[in-house]
Order: sequence, then C-alpha cells, then structure tokens
Amino acid sequence: MFDQSISTLAAQLRNKDISSVELTRYFLDRITKLDPQLNSYITLSENVALKQAAHADTQIQNGDASLLTGIPIAHKDLFCTAGTLTTCGSKMLNNFIPPYESTVTSRLQNAGAVMLGKTNMDEFAMGSSNENSHYGAVKNPWNLDTVPGGSSGGSAAAVAAGLTIAATGTDTGGSIRQPASFCGITGLKPTYGRVSRFGMIAYASSLDQAGPMAKSAEDCAHLMQAMAGFDDKDSTSSETPNDDYLSNLNTPLTGLKIGLPKEYFGDGLDAGVADVIMAAVKEFEKLGAKVKVISLPNLNLSIPSYYVIAPSEASSNLSRFDGVRFGHRCEDPKDLLDMYMRSRAEGFGQEVQKRIMVGTYALSEGYYDAYYLKAQKIRRLIKQDFTNALQEVDVIMGPVAPTTAFGLGSKTNDPVAMYLEDIYTLSVNLAGIPAMSIPAGFSNNMPVGLQIMGNYFAEAKLLNVAHQYQQNTDWHRQTPDMAKGA
Ligand code: GLN
Repeated sequence: MFDQSISTLAAQLRNKDISSVELTRYFLDRITKLDPQLNSYITLSENVALKQAAHADTQIQNGDASLLTGIPIAHKDLFCTAGTLTTCGSKMLNNFIPPYESTVTSRLQNAGAVMLGKTNMDEFAMGSSNENSHYGAVKNPWNLDTVPGGSSGGSAAAVAAGLTIAATGTDTGGSIRQPASFCGITGLKPTYGRVSRFGMIAYASSLDQAGPMAKSAEDCAHLMQAMAGFDDKDSTSSETPNDDYLSNLNTPLTGLKIGLPKEYFGDGLDAGVADVIMAAVKEFEKLGAKVKVISLPNLNLSIPSYYVIAPSEASSNLSRFDGVRFGHRCEDPKDLLDMYMRSRAEGFGQEVQKRIMVGTYALSEGYYDAYYLKAQKIRRLIKQDFTNALQEVDVIMGPVAPTTAFGLGSKTNDPVAMYLEDIYTLSVNLAGIPAMSIPAGFSNNMPVGLQIMGNYFAEAKLLNVAHQYQQNTDWHRQTPDMAKGA
C-alpha cells in the first residue's frame, strides 16, 4: 500500500475500501517501525494527523472531497505549521511552535491532505547531504551507509522508504532535485514565484522555492494543483495564472526538442551516471523527441556566484534569530550583547555560522562591489544562457548531480567537495527557471536522477515530459529493500 499512487489511493478512499484514518495509522505504524533506521522525521504529528484524517473521512462521506482528501503527506520542517514544532533542523528553533500556518501547508491542508509529521533537513536548508541537521543525519534507504542528499533529505528518504505518500521540499540551490536523485524519487522545483514563500523559514529569499516530492510526476502534479498560485502574502509571488498540471500529462512527446548542454557532460561527471543519463535520453528519442547539443557557457561560475549570493541573503535573514523574539536564548546573559552573542553561538551549528560570516563579509562596506555585486552580474549572465538556449529547444536535460549518493561523513571535512556536488543544480535557481529530477536508473546499485529543465512557468510541460517517460519505464516504481521490512 505504501507504494500506491495518489489517484489509486483516492479511488480506494472513495470506494470505502479503506478509510483515511486507517491509511494514516498504517503510515504512522510504518514510521514507528522503520524510521529509527533512517531518522527522516523530526516530529511525528500523530494527533493532528488522526484528526485531519477523521475530518477527511467525513468529507469523503459527504461527497465533498478533492483528490488529495485523506492522503497522508509530510512537510519539510521549515514550513511553519500552526501548533506543531517547526525547527528548521536547528537547535535555534528547538522550541518554536509557530502561531500561524505557511501558505503551502495551509493550501494542502485545505485540499484535504493529512500531515503525518515534519521531515528532517540540513539546518536552515544549508547543505547537500543532510548531515548538517541538529537532529542527526538522515540515512539513504537504498544504502544506510550513504547520505540521502540535502537539504530536503528527510522528505526524500521518507518518500523513498514508503513512510509517506508524498512530501514538500524546498530548493534554493538543488535541495529538492539532488535528494530526489539520490533517493530515487521524483521532485519538482517550480519557477521562482510560482509557489508562495509565505511561512517558509527563509534561507536565501531570491532563490528559495517550495515544491513537491513524490514517487511519480503524476503525484507531483497532484500536489502542485494545490500548492501553486498567487498569494498576496508573498510580494514575490507571481500573478501568472496556474496551468492545469494534470490535464497535460498525456500529451505525446513527438517533436519535443531536447537540449543537452555540453558543459553538463564534462570532467567530474561519474561515468556510471553519464551512462544512465544517455540511456534516458535515448528513451526520449524513442518517444519521438529530437536531441541537440547546446551550450550553457557560464555553468562553472554558478558555484562562486551562488556561494556569495546565498550566504549574503542568509546573513541578513538569520539576523532575526537573536535570542529575543523567538528560539534559543542562552542562560544568564550578562548583558544584551552577551545574550545576542551566546544565543547565536549556541543556537546555530557550524555550517550556518560559517555562512553567516561569509555573507556578512561579502556585504560589508568596501567588499560589496567586489563580491555581491559581481555575483549578481554573473547571475544575469547565467540567466541569459538559459534564455538563449530555451529559444532553440523545449527542455534541457542532464544529470542532477555528478555522482550517486556518497558515504556518510565522506565529504563533511571538505566544504569545496561538498559545494561541487551542486554544480548542475545551482544555475537553475540563479536563473529562476523550473526543473525536475526523475529516477532514470542505477549506477553501482544506487539511484540516478535525470534533470529536466524548462522555461519560466513551464511546470506543466516538465511534468508532461516526466510522466511520458514514467509511462514507458519503471525506475520510479523501484523500492529499496528496507522499505519492504514492515
Ligand atoms: N546545497 C546548497 C546549499 O547548501 C543548496 C541548498 C538548498 O537548495 N537549500 O546551499
């Protein structure tokens, strides 16, 4: 049952083959049994879940249900959920119970989805391996000695192991796509502004975007139907009307123009990963697509530019955590300055402190022009590269990450090696375009994700392309052995 699609479960709920309360208990039991191996959840919201499930059952009974009504999902622990602990993976927020609900979680709740709990993540979404969480590392269900990717590693591991049907994630520089790739699931990072950021704890506001993570593109489309759309509580939310993400799924791919950026297949790309990606591209050719080699010449500049812009914005966003308004406060402060300093030193982990320092430095007088301004100029070039390429082709394909999931602890002492993992994902956020990761095969028994990038607001197209592939392959239906153990 844990590997059923949303539409199958929705039909079973409507036929009264199962109730939402039963389905919810089933997942809560699986989490209790299996999650000690993974650590994918920070908080299990059992009471909330059972109450929402009972309500969903009444709605279904009354014929007043959407396709998401009664479907159990999980939320990355940076969406504010009223009355439920929201830690952002940090000690700083180990006691933060938001008084309000984020737009994403409230829309999914209004659509009838049931919240099982809050998933583990890198602290303040900073990381590529989920080893930066104050609540402990998350393990990859395909091999418990490897990382699930980050920062939405808890959401990815939980979906892969069948500890939820679907989950929310956020992607500032790859945090939906890279864990989706490492855990063999499907994830979509929407166009910047497509999904409201209201109530999402901010990391880098000009890059952050929330999106769905699930087994299939079709399930992601179900979540997008509820999540996406204008929100007057977020000034960067777009007024462009939503597409219908479900109705385009079955459009044939005949004549689809796929661009393969040569920079995505250069040095540093693992040969096993490259083979899987090229096999996937062949499959698209069988479905009627035409392939063309293109160029995104500024790819290499995405890492230095992102790792100036993201920490700069983070240093500003995280200044609100000062021990005064919410979150951790040190014991017996001597005076105000001592309280600020010790609360922040105690509440933030190492990676977060490092980024605050880098960002504060990059924004300081005299350095601003040399770093932040320059990084913004590079960002503009990267955006232009995509705009040019997407005039020639409909979608761009390549790997999500240069390798499959790496060993726990293998990169924690080498920040540059860790940042290099983000080479194929960062530029998408700098440009603001949408992109997906879909399971495309295995290399050394670990999942490999294919990245599909598209033009602004082309989410429906991406989901269509992904769905057609998934109708003809079954990589997205593979289940890790540990998930079968309950
Ligand atoms: N790995 C990147 C970082 O550490 C991206 C994280 C994200 O997308 N939230 O910043």
